[in-house]
Amino acid sequence: MKLRSDIDEFIKTIPDNVNIVAATKYVGAQEMMDLYKHNIKNFGENRVDSFNNKYEELKDVKDIKWHFIGHLQRNKCKDIINKIDYLHSLDSIELAKMIEKYRVNELNTFIEVSINLEENKNGVDYHNIYDFVGDLLNYKKIKIIGLMMMAIKNDNDEDLKDQFDKLYNLRNDLEKKFNISIPYLSMGISDDYKIAIDSGATHVRLGRILWEN
Ligand SMILES: *Cc1c(COP(=O)(O)O)cnc(C)c1O
Repeated sequence: MKLRSDIDEFIKTIPDNVNIVAATKYVGAQEMMDLYKHNIKNFGENRVDSFNNKYEELKDVKDIKWHFIGHLQRNKCKDIINKIDYLHSLDSIELAKMIEKYRVNELNTFIEVSINLEENKNGVDYHNIYDFVGDLLNYKKIKIIGLMMMAIKNDNDEDLKDQFDKLYNLRNDLEKKFNISIPYLSMGISDDYKIAIDSGATHVRLGRILWEN
């Protein structure tokens, strides 16, 4: 795919304190290097096999930060866990156990939260999040740095804003309850990133919008 021709102008529209994580599931290593030349160096992959292919090709490129943003199956955890810099999708204690077992050092981790489990099956049920975080504090390899969510698609901007605000407020409540700092919010994709930024996103995961269609 071809980068959108106004990529530099587009990047300038994203506030300085918000990190662009380029979702790479539609592209290959070559296209990732096109982004790299425009100073996008945070890459987020969804699938373990694609991750490994791209990582093999680009692992010697300076300053790339490797994010894993898709559901990570327990049995594939060990294949990538020491290659990534950030995990956005911690969604079960079973996965946490695998990370504890295989990861060599502390891993920067976002907890994926499902704010409405009926409509979005991915992530930890919003209602169980306090128990989940309480458990996680015993895992030495897991450094909780943020929360992540996928909004449920909606044409109504206010509904989307309510969804993102829910994660923002949850983060603040968790910080108070456990007396910890959870500085980051990974939320917003091509369709809704502006609203997510209004609600305090620090990481937007952008795919389609970076490319010409
Ligand atoms: C694909 C994907 C994105 C980016 O989606 P776009 O609509 O292409 O911007 C963000 N987050 C996750 C988890 C994804 O799988």
